[in-house]
Amino acid sequence: MAKIALITGVTGQDGSYLAEFLLKKNYIVHGIKRKSSSFNTERIDHIIENSKFNSRFFLHYGDLTDTDSLVKIISDTRPNEIYNLGAQSHVGVSFDNPVYTAEVTGIGSLRILEALRFLKMKKVKFYQATSSELFGEKIVNKFNENSVLNPKSPYGVAKLFAHHITKIYRDSYGIFACSGILFNHESPRRGETFVTRKITMFLAKRLMGNKKVLKLGNIYAKRDWGHAKDYVEAMWLMLQQEEAEDYVIALNEQHSVREFVEAAAPYFGYDIEWFGEGEDEL
Ligand code: NAP
Repeated sequence: MAKIALITGVTGQDGSYLAEFLLKKNYIVHGIKRKSSSFNTERIDHIIENSKFNSRFFLHYGDLTDTDSLVKIISDTRPNEIYNLGAQSHVGVSFDNPVYTAEVTGIGSLRILEALRFLKMKKVKFYQATSSELFGEKIVNKFNENSVLNPKSPYGVAKLFAHHITKIYRDSYGIFACSGILFNHESPRRGETFVTRKITMFLAKRLMGNKKVLKLGNIYAKRDWGHAKDYVEAMWLMLQQEEAEDYVIALNEQHSVREFVEAAAPYFGYDIEWFGEGEDEL
C-alpha cells in the first residue's frame, strides 16, 4: 500500500521540493493551499501538469488559521505522515504582523496536533518545521538540540511555541511528532523577498539592462546556507526513525551576505563596487 502524506505549505519552496521527493518515493501526496485571488501554485505547476502524478497528487483548500478546514482535510485524507511546513515564514514581516505570525506559524501547529487528538489519529507521524531562529542571536557558532532557545523575533517566538507544543504532544499523547530545527536553505524557488533571491534577481535584472543599485542590510551577517532539496530529505528521514526526536539540521559552514554577492556576481561577469554609508550598497 502506498503511504499517504499531507503537506501544509505545499506551494512554498520546501513544500514543492518535498512533494516531488515523496512522489518519487511512490507516496500519495495531499497538499493544502490557501485560497488566493492570484495564482499561488507557480512552484508546483509542473507537478499538477504532469499526468504521471494525476492519481497521486491532490490539492485541498485550507488555512492554518482555520481549524475546521484542517480537521476536515486530515479526516478525509487519513495521512500516514503530516509535514507542517506552512507558515508566515519571513522574520522581518513578523515584526509588522506579529499577531498573524503567531496565529499561523505558532497556533497553526497546535491546530493540527489537536485535530490528530480529536480524530484519535495517534499513529500519524508529524513533522513540524521549526527554525534556527529559535536560537536567537548567534553569538556562539555551535548549536545542538540541547542549546538554549532564545528567539529574537515574533517569528522565532511563534516557532518556539510550535517547537514546544510538538514535544508536549509527543510526551503527553504519544504522537510520533518531530521538530526540525533547520538552518537556512535556499534554491531557485526561494521567495524573492529573501536576501539570496534579492541578490540573484538583482544580478539577473542587471543583465537585462536594469541600472539600479542593490541596497542590502547588514552585509556582514553570516548564514549557514544549504540547498532546500537536501533539507526536505532530512525532514522525511526524521519521520523514518524508530523514535520521534527533534533534530538540528545545518551544514556547519557559514558565509556572509557579502561573500554571497562576491560569489554570485562573477557568474554574470560583473566586478563589484561597494559603496554607501555602511558599505552596504553595490
Ligand atoms: P515559504 O516558501 O515561505 O512557504 C510557506 C508556505 O506556507 C507557503 O506555501 C504559504 O502559502 C504557506 N502559508 C502561509 N500562510 C499560510 C496559512 N495561513 N495557511 C496555510 N498555509 C500558509 O517557506 P519555506 O522556505 O518553504 O519554508 C518551509 C517551512 O520551513 C516554513 O515553516 C519556514 O518557516 C520553515 N523554515 C524555513 C527555512 C528556510 O531557510 N527556507 C529555515 C528554517 C525554517 P502561499 O504560497 O499561499 O503564500
